[in-house]
Amino acid sequence: MTAATLLRDVFGFDGFRLGQEEIVEAVSLGQNTLAIMPTGGGKSLCFQLPALVREGVTVVISPLIALMRDQVRGLREAGVEAGALTSGNTQEETDAVWQALEEGRLKLLYMAPERLAAGGVPQMLRRIGVSMIAVDEAHCVSQWGHDFRPDYLRIGELRRALGVPLAAFTATADAETQAEIVEKLFDGVPPVTFLRGFDRPNIHLAFAVKDQPRQQILSFAAARKGQSGIVYCGTRAKTETIAQALREAGHAACHYHGGMEAEDRRVVEGRFQQEDGLIVVATVAFGMGIDKPDIRWVAHADLPKSIESYYQEIGRAGRDGAPAETLTLFGPDDIRYRRQQIDEGLAPPERRMADHARLNALLGLCEALECRRKTLLGYFGEEATACGHCDLCDKPADVFDGTTPVRMALSAALRTGESYGSGHLIEILLGSDLDKIKQRGHDQLPTYGVGKEYSRREWQAIFRQMMGHDLLRPDPERHGGLRMTEKARPILRGEDTIQLRRDTIKAAKTGNKIKMLVSEDDAPLLSALKAKRRALAEAAGVPAYIIYNDSTLIEMAQKRPMSLDEMAKISGVGAKKLQSYGDAFLSVIAGEVAQLHPARRKMAGRSEGSVYDRLLEVQADLSRGEDGTGKPMTCSASLLAKVAQMRPRDMATMERVLGAKYAERFGDAFLGVLSEAS
Ligand code: ADP
Ligand code: ZN
Repeated sequence: MTAATLLRDVFGFDGFRLGQEEIVEAVSLGQNTLAIMPTGGGKSLCFQLPALVREGVTVVISPLIALMRDQVRGLREAGVEAGALTSGNTQEETDAVWQALEEGRLKLLYMAPERLAAGGVPQMLRRIGVSMIAVDEAHCVSQWGHDFRPDYLRIGELRRALGVPLAAFTATADAETQAEIVEKLFDGVPPVTFLRGFDRPNIHLAFAVKDQPRQQILSFAAARKGQSGIVYCGTRAKTETIAQALREAGHAACHYHGGMEAEDRRVVEGRFQQEDGLIVVATVAFGMGIDKPDIRWVAHADLPKSIESYYQEIGRAGRDGAPAETLTLFGPDDIRYRRQQIDEGLAPPERRMADHARLNALLGLCEALECRRKTLLGYFGEEATACGHCDLCDKPADVFDGTTPVRMALSAALRTGESYGSGHLIEILLGSDLDKIKQRGHDQLPTYGVGKEYSRREWQAIFRQMMGHDLLRPDPERHGGLRMTEKARPILRGEDTIQLRRDTIKAAKTGNKIKMLVSEDDAPLLSALKAKRRALAEAAGVPAYIIYNDSTLIEMAQKRPMSLDEMAKISGVGAKKLQSYGDAFLSVIAGEVAQLHPARRKMAGRSEGSVYDRLLEVQADLSRGEDGTGKPMTCSASLLAKVAQMRPRDMATMERVLGAKYAERFGDAFLGVLSEAS
């Protein structure tokens, strides 16, 4: 079978994503390849598909057991013979893998790098007919990166011993890492290399200046209630307080950081992978192991440490290609903290310089005056036009010529020996009569009181933006006193001007509209499809997206296939999954089409609408009773609408609305929904 046929029949995709086809072709031909693709770009397909095209077994080396298990499960669901040999296996699983290998059935064998350390591995792999090696997360060979895995260094040796082609995949783009991969995996002989674009058009980008940051995070989450998300925090303590605040606001949320017991961390990872709509509040320790395709949003409660970290962290959202949203908060304290971290770190001076530059790039993005994506991709060397899908495209920045205040601020810093922080400098500019100003004679400076036309708050914003544009830098040698950089000199001399953003603080206070993945009309059907998916996933003991991912369900909700033939045309519905689940989802769609419209439509745009949808979801879960064996029962759409509107508060009232029989099955669950919603 050709790659295109396999793509459709096995994986259920209509076409390749950008860049996949060339990679699949090269890998299928048995060329040594290195593919650099952003997270969510669809790397796995680029070795899974060639593995099916080629004779023999493809061995896949991947650093994370959970990730391997998920992929194996996904492949088996799609009818592909795949297995994993990891320390997490039961004896039974291991036996089954060996049996499949002996019978020559297995196409993909996943292995943890630790396995390579055991003796006799090359002989074993040769005997079972390995014809290709695929290396996922290939940057793990890099000794400089934080994901370094010493066992990855054995892969080059394995390649030589087997004499088979090797395909390496990573999302890490920098040139140093690439060079290390070529050196360690390919003995320095450059493979065919693919660098696929870094744009992730489905991710909406937004930044906001911190202003009651906890409240900002809570409102962002509230507008996305029920969707899976990650909140990244700068400190461990903060992960716990924000998770708590989210729970108090009625979200399912837990915290995660490197200081937790390994076991507790695994529990959180497992829940996140499995549950729909959980929020994890984490430090960057919550990272590489996450392979959940349907994360709908990522928020940064604190500024990340560099533009690369930012890109990687927001990149965990929306890997399934469906819409995803991000919000990054920042403030002057973040800038100081990140600078300090670099300056106090143990890295050699050149590396520290580079780290400052990476932080500067991120600050430039924070203070960008036009399209965020254009700025971000520009950093990665890609040209782009205004994207129409970021906060600055949504609402252009309000800018003004800031040359004069910037020169005032620079002058205040210089005339006080570059030894003071912004607080003191602002007092000078405002002409304050505080003792500390007078005692130092700062009320005699020519800059004293020249900045009265701006308020204290506005000056704070100006200083923050100046740090963001790297015109001023806190000097660790002078306890954070602000020092002018070379970049500021032309502005001071009047040879250059600078545009500043009018502070966004005042603008940010509008209400939160509920964000929808589909139109109001399709939303209830999407909820019902998700409920069905959850029921199927729980029955099979797999994460929901293994059944179908969000983009597939969204397409179903929009196109509403009415037959298996139409269902087969939905992206993500392969032959095997059509057999397993097609009917179940068709009946949801057929049922919905009949009962959804009049009652639900009336509630469009009102809060009862989303309550109704939640009722529909929990009803779907209980339609065959708690244990799934009861008599099928569902309330009529008009009955549900009545519950959503009347909002009974107790069982007695609920019983009056629903009648005893329905109240017995659904009463408790409905009361739960209503108390969540109030
Ligand atoms: P990564 O590059 O991060 O490893 P994955 O291989 O996990 O990304 O793919 C991300 C998501 O994209 C998965 O949900 C996968 O099913 C989906 N995907 C991959 N290729 C295609 C395609 N050609 N069409 C539609 N969806 C795809
Ligand atoms: Zn844009």
